[in-house]
Amino acid sequence: MNAEIIAIGSELLTPFRQDTNSLYLTEKLNQLGVEVIFKTIVGDSREHLTGAASLALLRTDIVIFIGGLGPTEDDLTREAVADALQLELRRDPEIVASLERRFAARRYKMTANNSKQADVIAGATVLANANGSAPGQWLTGKYEDKEKIIILLPGPPHELAALFEEQCIDRLRAKLPAQSIATRVLKIAMIAESQCDARIAPIYKRYPDVQTTILAGAGEIQVHLQTRGASLEVAQKRVDQLVEELEEELDEFVYSDNGDSLEQIVSYYLQMRNSTVAAAESCTGGLLAERLTSISGSSRYFLGGAVVYSNEVKTKFAGVPAELIEKHGAVSREVAMALAEGIRERCGATFGIGITGVAGPTGGSVEKPVGLVFHALAGERGTEVVQRNFPGDRQRVRWFATTQALDMVRRKLM
Ligand code: ATP
Ligand code: MG
Repeated sequence: MNAEIIAIGSELLTPFRQDTNSLYLTEKLNQLGVEVIFKTIVGDSREHLTGAASLALLRTDIVIFIGGLGPTEDDLTREAVADALQLELRRDPEIVASLERRFAARRYKMTANNSKQADVIAGATVLANANGSAPGQWLTGKYEDKEKIIILLPGPPHELAALFEEQCIDRLRAKLPAQSIATRVLKIAMIAESQCDARIAPIYKRYPDVQTTILAGAGEIQVHLQTRGASLEVAQKRVDQLVEELEEELDEFVYSDNGDSLEQIVSYYLQMRNSTVAAAESCTGGLLAERLTSISGSSRYFLGGAVVYSNEVKTKFAGVPAELIEKHGAVSREVAMALAEGIRERCGATFGIGITGVAGPTGGSVEKPVGLVFHALAGERGTEVVQRNFPGDRQRVRWFATTQALDMVRRKLM
């Protein structure tokens, strides 16, 4: 079965509010094996909302409306959905009574407009809302000769989540074919999306029953895999089989197959090898230290380091000879190595990391363009350097650079 989510509210069409409810619902629906094939955002207009409802009812099996169930003039969901279904709204005396009790308990006078929250679409089941005043509604029936499930949920995220989990999931499950869903996520570092896909597409294409989604970010690719089976065991076996083939192809590029972050993996490896690390960062301004210390317990392996932005501080805090900077420039292979070696020695760490580059958007030149970064990793047996030319804006270049540095540590200890 497939679904459409319709998020209602003019505020969701401004730059100031985002529709986050549909992300939550999509995850829950996917877990049930329901694919979300459309998402719509509509302002508080009865006409537009009725139109969106009619279209959704034509093209999907399950239509979920979010928001617009409150007492105010702009809360029009009940009316619009009833219009689209050509059904009547009936005021439910029990809901009116419970609204009255709710107001009395808070010593508020209930204004007349509140009663419209008691309007129920003919044939709908009322979904009591323990966390708010507006109840949800659940309705099944035929639309243009096809069986449909229609759900109305309140907009406030905590009300929606409680209502969906407690009153919709079991109802939905009862309507869905019995099946189990297995998922896996592969995380891959420092490979171009096109290169990654060229290598893995021939493999996952042989698994048309596994839904494969590739998400690329700065320096990281995630491959999300999902399949269904008569039992969880059957489904899991199928995804695991594909994971094995993908891992074999991508080999050391894969850093996690169980959801762990790169920071977490680096943490495991450093602890496993009883190693410590220190960092001297120029263009990343402490972002690497931030990422390393985002892991609880990082004091066991991250000793510290320095943000060495100016040349003087590179010399003072990481022991980079002034002549070396003079000769090769601050952004150079040599200075990156000296940063890594200097901070390693000064902190007494197993590994030292040095990062220097041009984050941009200003400061680039023909020989040293924006995006050029040198990453060095110094250890007991020498220092290695990776030179990269990263695309993107300042934030992206800095993020890429820290991912590269973390990945160097991972590869070293793998
Ligand atoms: P209320 O009784 O509170 O008016 P309602 O069902 O009418 O509930 P809305 O008025 O549409 O819901 O929204 C109430 C609050 O929930 C708003 O603050 C809104 O920003 C938030 N909200 C509504 N829809 C969403 C959404 N799709 N994602 C995230 N937040 C939302
Ligand atoms: Mg409202």
